[in-house]
Amino acid sequence: MSNILALARPEIVALKAYSHASWDPAFDRLHANELPWRAETDHSQAGLNRYPEPHPHVLAQRLAKLYGVEDAQLLPGRGSDESIDLLVRGFCRAGIDNVIICPPTFGMYAVAARIQGAAVREVPLVSPDYSLDTAGVLAARDANTRIVFLCSPNNPTGNAMAPADIESLLVELADKALVVVDEAYIEFSGDASLTRALSRFPNLVVLRTLSKAYGLAGARVGSLIAQPEIVSLLAKVIPPYSIPQLTIEAVLATLGEVQLAIQRERVAQVRVERERLRAALATCKPVQKIWPSVANFLLVDFTAPEAVLAAARAAKLLIRDMRNVSPSSLRISVGTPEQNDRLIRSLA
Ligand code: PMP
Repeated sequence: MSNILALARPEIVALKAYSHASWDPAFDRLHANELPWRAETDHSQAGLNRYPEPHPHVLAQRLAKLYGVEDAQLLPGRGSDESIDLLVRGFCRAGIDNVIICPPTFGMYAVAARIQGAAVREVPLVSPDYSLDTAGVLAARDANTRIVFLCSPNNPTGNAMAPADIESLLVELADKALVVVDEAYIEFSGDASLTRALSRFPNLVVLRTLSKAYGLAGARVGSLIAQPEIVSLLAKVIPPYSIPQLTIEAVLATLGEVQLAIQRERVAQVRVERERLRAALATCKPVQKIWPSVANFLLVDFTAPEAVLAAARAAKLLIRDMRNVSPSSLRISVGTPEQNDRLIRSLA
């Protein structure tokens, strides 16, 4: 039996959860100080005059089914951004604990840690292919390291980490630190999720999101997937009613069978477009290198990145300046065929 909660902040382990008004849609609600009428413009199913379910179980169950995990292993939140924030708030003591990140990577791990007052230790991904430095992570870790954040496929480099490398860290850090694997882009890679390893590694946390492959970035829904003890702990930290009713209804509609088939088709289309964009970019003069990517974006090195940014803007396209990662790098999200063609033309 693991004692993973020994890593959590003791005051959060001891915290009594907020006691919210009971929730039962079969009753008329005279207990939550709401207005009894809907707004004229309110076309939601449940009525936006009513608070949503405090911890939305139907949503959690639907997401658990989507990701093939137990209901008790999943906590829905407002995007993976909130899952990341909950983890550092639940596990890092301000001014004492630290997290490890592997740059270049998604910026919110460091920002969330710093907001919580946790130190950030950097163990860069290593050349030639931005792979994980497992020995470096273990060397950087100390008794106050609470979380190692890994991103696979990684943003902004686009490559996936070797599952064997991640598993070796999970073994070495068992009972010592959480290993959080952010799989925001995994649907575009076709690889299997590390959720399959949850029963073997109590210190594993997997982050999934509906923002990328499911086309719901505006709805803001992510899933933190971990041992039930971790899920219950962080359910005390997330505010009740945090997931809006409109979001719950949008997600349940989008995850219906017919819609899901359409979404999967779109992911397949993005993969085709990614390869078409890669091939077209390879013939463009200002392109120096296209990094291998299994995500829905490409990290590309250009001879004159400033001119490429300007040319894209002139074609009414925003691409991401990544010169903080390397002086010639820009990140391009795969768009519609027309948008991708426009980008290629702007570079010609
Ligand atoms: N993780 C990674 C690796 C990301 O790139 C992003 C968004 N760019 C997020 C998490 C945030 O996702 P969400 O919209 O679910 O908050």
